[in-house]
This record gives sequence, C-alpha cells and structure tokens, in this order.
Amino acid sequence: MTSARTSYLTAGGLVVLLIGLFAAIFSLNARHYQTALSNAESAVAKALDEQRDLLLSQLDREETRAFALMGTERIFDADLFQLHEGRFLPASLADGFTHTVSRPDANAAFKKGVALLPAKDALPFFEIAARAAPENSADWYQKISALFNVLDFRTDPSVASQILFALEQSRDALSASRKAFFRGLLEERFPDITRIETRQNELLKTAERLNADVVVKKGAFRVAVGDEILAVGNNGVAVLYAPDFGASNAAALSFTPKGIHRELLPGLYITASKTALDEEKRRLAHQYQAGNITLTIMAALGALLCVGLGVTFLHQRKLNAMRTRFIATVSHELRTPLSLIRLHAETLAHGRVPSGKENDYHQTILTETDRLTGIVNNVLDFSRMERDKLQVHLETTSLSELTARVADSFRDRLREDQIELERNIAADVSGLVDPLAYSQVVFNLLDNAIKYSDGAKSIRIGLEVSNGWNILTVEDQGIGIPNKLKKHVFNEFVRSDDRKVTARRGSGIGLNVAKRLVEKMNGTIEVADNKPKGSIFTVILKSANGKIME
Ligand code: ADP
Repeated sequence: MTSARTSYLTAGGLVVLLIGLFAAIFSLNARHYQTALSNAESAVAKALDEQRDLLLSQLDREETRAFALMGTERIFDADLFQLHEGRFLPASLADGFTHTVSRPDANAAFKKGVALLPAKDALPFFEIAARAAPENSADWYQKISALFNVLDFRTDPSVASQILFALEQSRDALSASRKAFFRGLLEERFPDITRIETRQNELLKTAERLNADVVVKKGAFRVAVGDEILAVGNNGVAVLYAPDFGASNAAALSFTPKGIHRELLPGLYITASKTALDEEKRRLAHQYQAGNITLTIMAALGALLCVGLGVTFLHQRKLNAMRTRFIATVSHELRTPLSLIRLHAETLAHGRVPSGKENDYHQTILTETDRLTGIVNNVLDFSRMERDKLQVHLETTSLSELTARVADSFRDRLREDQIELERNIAADVSGLVDPLAYSQVVFNLLDNAIKYSDGAKSIRIGLEVSNGWNILTVEDQGIGIPNKLKKHVFNEFVRSDDRKVTARRGSGIGLNVAKRLVEKMNGTIEVADNKPKGSIFTVILKSANGKIME
C-alpha cells in the first residue's frame, strides 16, 4: 500500500472516529438527561413515600389530626366533623361558625359582594361574610344570605348543610316564617336536601355518641366507627372522618390529585411539591442544553481541526510531490550539460575534432559550464534560502557591465535557437547589489525567455535608470503566462501544465530564487504580458547613479 493511501485511510479513519465519538457523546448526554429526569421523579416519589410513612406512624403514635399536617391535601372538607361548642359539626360548617372574621369586616365584605353581583368576583366576599359568627337576627340574616350567594356560585352540599345548620342554630333569632322561606329556597336549589340532612343528622348523632368518649378518654386517640374514623389530637380537636358523606357530589369522591401523590387514608392524599420538581426539571433541561451547546462547539472545533489537518496534509503531499519532481528534474538537468561537456572535452582530448572547429568545441564546453553553473547556483541558493542561510553582500556594481556579461554567456544558446537578443543596456548604470545574485537573476530571466520562446526569434533585454531606480526588463515573444499562473509563478516548484512548458527542462525554482534574491537586494520583480504575445519581467532596484525620487 502506498504511503498516500495509508495517509488517506488514516485521515478518513480519524474523521469517522471523531464523528462517532461526538455522536456517542451526544447520545450519552441525551441518555444522561433522561436518567436524571426519571431519577429526579423517583427521588420525589421516594421522599413522598417517606413522608407518607412518617405521617402514618405519627397518626398511629399520637392519634392526632394528621389531616392538618403540612403537605396534606384534604379533599373531604365537608366530611370532616369538628367539635364546636360541645357538638360535632362538619368541618366546613365549624369553619363558618368560628370567629375568624370580625363583624365589621364581615359587614364590609357582604356589602362589597352585593355591589359586585352578579359577577363571580363577588364570591370571595360572600365567603368572608359567611365566616363571621352571628350575634343578632340581622347578623343571622346576613350570614344566611351570604351562604345562599355562595351556593349560587358553587353547588356544594357542604354549603347547603351549613345553611341547614345555620337555620337550626339561629333558634329564635329568626322567625319561623323566615326560616321556612329560606328552607324553601334551599329545596329549590337542592332537591335532595332531605338526604343530605338525614345523613348529616346521622353523623351528628354518631358524633354526639362519641362525644362521651372524647370527654372520658381525653388525650389523643383514634377510633373507627363503621366507615367513619374519629381522631382526637392532643390539642383536644376532634375530627370525625366520614368518607361517604357528600355522595351526591360523586365527582368529588372520585377525586385524585394530579402529579405525584400518595394516599394517606382513603380519600386523603399527600402531593409532592410541584414547584421543586419543576425547578429540578428546568435545571436538568438547562444542563442538558448547555451540554449540547458545549458539545456542538467542540464538534465544530473538531471539524475545523479536521479541515485544518486535511488542508495541511494535502499541502504537504503537494509539496512532497513537487520536491520529488524537483530532484528528478534537477538531476536530469545536470546530466545534459555534464554529458555535453564530457563529450566535447573527450573529443578534444583525443584530437578527433575536425580542423578549424576547436574553438566551437571550447565554446560549447564554456556555454554548458555556464548553464551548469546556473543550475547549480539556483539549487545552492534555493537550498540556502530554505535554511535561511543565504547572505548577500551588497556593493556598488556596474550593472551595465554585469548585465552585458550574462547576456554574452547566452551567445551560443541564442545562436543554436536562432534567437536574436536585442540589447538596450544603458551605459554606466550602477547599483548597490550582490554581483553574483544579480547575475543569477539576469541568468534565470534570460534562460526562461529562451526556453519559453517557442520558436519566436526575438528577445529584448533592457537596463535603464528612471527616477532614481534601475529598471531591468527581459521581454520575450514566447508562450506567455496565463493570468491564473501569474499570481503563483514566483512560488517554489510552480510550473505550468502546458505541454510547451513540461516539454522543456526546468525545476520550478528559477523565478523563486530570482524573486528572493531581488528582495534581498531591496528590489522588486514582477511579470506582465508582452504585446502581441510573450512576457515581460521587470526588476526594479535602487540606483546608485543619482538622487532617488520616490
Ligand atoms: P522552470 O523554468 O525551471 O520551470 P521557473 O521558476 O524559472 O522554473 O519558472 C516557473 C514557471 O513559470 C515555468 O515553468 C513557466 O511555466 C513559467 N515561466 C517562467 N518564465 C516564463 C516565460 N518567460 N514565458 C513563459 N512562461 C514562463
């Protein structure tokens, strides 16, 4: 397996691994959230179980009024009987006869209730008015009226039984005709009032019977009397629990609280505090979302990392391929001039040169040596620059002479390719350059101009001073450089894919070396299209000839 394929497999594996990892963490987070939710619910249920056990044990131990303990939800208010003035009353009745509301407050509430009628907003005021203890006939009249108004809003047997009780309690305070009038009103609203009354009297009798026990036993106790339970607390408050009373209100009997709850006694429930559970659920949901957001950010960073790694990997691969190609082409490039030099030198050494041609042979050896030097210099400069080891030594140099000398070294190659080199080299142009580096730049540009001339017969080299700048131009009429490539042409190992380029020898470092050398000499190099075709390379360096006009 090639190393590239191994790398692809590794990268692919890494991506799949990351995706899998994040998917697993996301689903773990979701599962953890669900578990935490059900844990929270079972914690609440467990706490409720404990509370119920505690209440039941308290009920057994103290025989007390467990119904009144905190956290309980009483749903049979009408069926709870309390000891009131020596008699047992349904708890709601007793409520209505205890002095919880002062007379003036009750009067004010009654007035407000009347003013608000028939709106439902009147109900709370009548409920307040009904809870005051009456003293004279006007108070009784007002209390019973308030109860009737309550009854108009809530068809509740417990209110009906309060009215019955109030009528009985009022004794002589209300006239018999008034009582009969109220009774008639009650019957109109409650056709089964006689059933309620019978059951109420029965319970009152049971309560009265038990009253003796309360007196005798004192202290806390609880007794079951048929379906009813009498519980007396240490505080002396006695409660008679009669589950069936209020059977006319069937809906109330089948009532079960919403949410998590436990039944303490038949029909008596304790419920979990909903707010605490909701709060916990909200906290968990928040935690879950925060977890997801963090994971999403991490996944995005992971994806970025993958993309970064991928890009670096591809870039590295491209560079490696370029380097390999570079080594191959450089070796190839070196071999050609070397074999030419060797061939010509051998022919000369063996005296096999046709007479009169010796000079040509010497010239070829010199030309190829120049070419070899050019290639070797490029490679050496490139390698030094890669290691940051290249140093230039700037000295005032006659660029006119140096440029002409490099151009001269191309004489043979130009002749070979039948290319005419037009020289516009101004005399006495001097600059602060490294002579070797400058020669290498001119060499590389001319070498390329010849290489990529593609049969064109003319190249132009120019050197002039303009506004304090030395401007070197190398123009050819060759294949030109496509715009897309122009941007990268000075980068290392960049070569056009054009057949006309790939068919020519080249390593892709010539222009890169030229650019870096020019920059080391504080100059710039750029390329533009020549007209009608070809390229113009322009090198701009500071002139040593005169004042520089920026
Ligand atoms: P090499 O010539 O060894 O390939 P260079 O760095 O000198 O490397 O040039 C890089 C590329 O720029 C060349 O391969 C070629 O595609 C393009 N190029 C350079 N000079 C010219 C030119 N004068 N005309 C057309 N294309 C050129």
